[in-house]
Amino acid sequence: MASRPKVSEMMLAFDEHVAEQLKATPEVLTTEGEIDVADLFINVPKWRKYAKVSCVFADLAGSTNLRKGRWEASTASIYESAVRPAVVILDEFGADFIDIQGDAAFGLFVGDYSRSRAICAGITIKTFGEQVLVPALHKKWPNDPPETGFKIGCAISDLLGKKIGISGTAHNAPVWAGRAVNYAAKCSQQAQAHEMIVTKPIAEAIQDNEYLFYSCECADSPVELWKDRTIEKVAETDKAGMILSSSWCKRCGDSYSEKICSGSWKRPDLDEFRMSEVKDKYQKVLNFRDSNAKQIRRGIYG
Ligand SMILES: [Zn+2]
Repeated sequence: MASRPKVSEMMLAFDEHVAEQLKATPEVLTTEGEIDVADLFINVPKWRKYAKVSCVFADLAGSTNLRKGRWEASTASIYESAVRPAVVILDEFGADFIDIQGDAAFGLFVGDYSRSRAICAGITIKTFGEQVLVPALHKKWPNDPPETGFKIGCAISDLLGKKIGISGTAHNAPVWAGRAVNYAAKCSQQAQAHEMIVTKPIAEAIQDNEYLFYSCECADSPVELWKDRTIEKVAETDKAGMILSSSWCKRCGDSYSEKICSGSWKRPDLDEFRMSEVKDKYQKVLNFRDSNAKQIRRGIYG
């Protein structure tokens, strides 16, 4: 060690630092365009504010159990084989910022179709876990395959960003204040392996997109892929979320994700289905009216 740290001197210096930081109201600069880490301030109380940032959080399930009874090298190889593809997927879908935290990774998306790109990245990581990673682990350890898979969360909010740490060294990192990262992590914590949970504002975008909300043409008739899910420990605005258990269809995944990420939402193959849904609703109204009329005639009402 080059120098001997003096605890009492550090405490004195930090006393001043904390007082100074708490006194000043940090300046917030609204920043348009993509997130560039090089733009983030360090050492000064200045934060950049980015509007409507979508966050995808991907966490490897059961990773603490992976260590049990296995060689360290095997666990390390599972980490590497699982986390790198998650990062590549976030990058391919155009994440502005990607961070790795142990066996988890998250990506931040802003700009054109950022919400759709974030959702598609999440589904793709989940698909990788289910269709590639887990089958490979089962092949390698057929008798006792490690139980794992990605747990995905997705949320959106404005975010404040700045770098915290020691400038001019490797010991500083971007820090994000705001709901998106926190809530995406909470969604991921509340998911099981191969599940994706999204907050209410993300769920609303999914419900408005037929490529995301309904099963593909390969299914007999379109079914809703997402179920309602109440998210714990988040604000009322985000609570009423949804959960997805299925992955991309091997046949339709490419074309669907491309359409979703370029702003398409209406599926031509669902024209007939949409009409029958409308008819169905209309029929229900008619039936209700008829039964009401009968009840009125029978003197139940009035
Ligand atoms: Zn399909």
